[in-house]
Amino acid sequence: MNENDSEKLAGMLRQIGWTPAEKAEESGLIIVNTCSVRENADDRAFGNIGKFKTYKRKNPDMILAVCGCMMQQPEIVAELRQKHPQVDIIFGTHNLHRFPQILGNFIAAGEQITEIWDESDAVVEDIPVENKYPFKAYVTIMQGCNNFCSYCIVPYTRGREHSRQPERILDEIRGLADRGVIEVTLLGQNVNSYGNDLEIGIDFATLLRQVNEIDGIRRIRFMTSNPKDFTDDVIAAMAQCEKVMPSCHLAMQSGSTRVIRRMNRHYTKEEAIALVRRIRDEVPGAVITTDIIVGFPGETEEDFQDTLDLVRACRFDSAFSFIYSKRHGTPAAEMEDQIPDEIKHDRLNRLLEVLHTVSAQINAPFQDQTVDVLVEGPSARDASRLTGRTAGGKLVNFTGNFDDIGRIVPVRIDKAGTFSLTGVQTAAEAD
Ligand code: SAH
Ligand code: SF4
Repeated sequence: MNENDSEKLAGMLRQIGWTPAEKAEESGLIIVNTCSVRENADDRAFGNIGKFKTYKRKNPDMILAVCGCMMQQPEIVAELRQKHPQVDIIFGTHNLHRFPQILGNFIAAGEQITEIWDESDAVVEDIPVENKYPFKAYVTIMQGCNNFCSYCIVPYTRGREHSRQPERILDEIRGLADRGVIEVTLLGQNVNSYGNDLEIGIDFATLLRQVNEIDGIRRIRFMTSNPKDFTDDVIAAMAQCEKVMPSCHLAMQSGSTRVIRRMNRHYTKEEAIALVRRIRDEVPGAVITTDIIVGFPGETEEDFQDTLDLVRACRFDSAFSFIYSKRHGTPAAEMEDQIPDEIKHDRLNRLLEVLHTVSAQINAPFQDQTVDVLVEGPSARDASRLTGRTAGGKLVNFTGNFDDIGRIVPVRIDKAGTFSLTGVQTAAEAD
């Protein structure tokens, strides 16, 4: 979501005549788009702002702006203004679309501007987006979140859930397809509750089926799914729609029913395992990834063992695992039985061991298989090779043809590692 917001800022700036600078030090404008989901994201943003403000000494006309979720928290804005008065513009998540006007006002008056809105009524349409890749794009289908998981800051910084009208989403995707985009990722904090607020009788499964009809689009992905809203109809849509990729990011957070309840997430360990089983039964080759938090307040060793059990039962292809981070203003931050850091770290290490063992086992059968890969560009580790993703979303680094960037090509896997696959392109574009 944060990356997609940055793409919107880039798109709006391009429209009013700004272009990307080669070096941050020499640019006329730096925007720090902050994330607040965990404390280390907050710390990193403050570190970056401290660094960027030193650039202003050599380049006094540089404009420094800060936006994003951190700016929706008044105590953080106060701290920012006190520690870094050099920041010229502060704006939030709800008025992102106003950035060109705010920037214009700053340039005209030359005075610090802080403009933050508390809420937004609906999704603002027609913001130009500058996609990082010409062949794949994020498409926001809904903003905000109504779930109030007890550890999470997002409902406070992003506001209530607002779904976009399906015609607007479909028009945007048709436009992207006309411009050569072949893969779209539908974005929302909980995509499976798409449409609940629209009162026109549309749900996420229906939207998937409609996007599947759009000519030119070849791969459809979506992110993120809360297990409580993952209906059998969505599983059926995944199974039936040839363009909907066999993959989903199903954030489990914990395997302990007791902890899940305290997290305010409304499913049990058994329901979570049964859901994954249904997806794997109905969607051949489904790649299922997850998010897990260790050290939630009150998490006992037994609760943690339930999480390890869940991982072994669901056999996630990969996972993001996080140490619980106290977020000011959330109910969990007020819970009494906070877990000591050593225990959190120990649990994270033990969780990673199990996750990695499972990932290695799941990836092993890819050895000597040929998979279809959407080629994204040079590999980050070795620029003489290419990188891309399989239908399920697995990362592949391979030797191949640089002219095929943006195309889907067959790659024969010669090494199936825990975190990625390695191989060689065997032919030109796949059917
Ligand atoms: N809307 C998504 C999650 C968005 S936040 C969903 O519900 O699936 C991304 C991930 O950050 C969450 O899935 C969770 O695992 C993690 N996270 C959120 N708040 C956190 C906190 N206070 N401490 C640690 N991890 C957190
Ligand atoms: Fe946060 Fe829960 Fe909403 Fe995800 S569903 S954004 S974890 S409150």
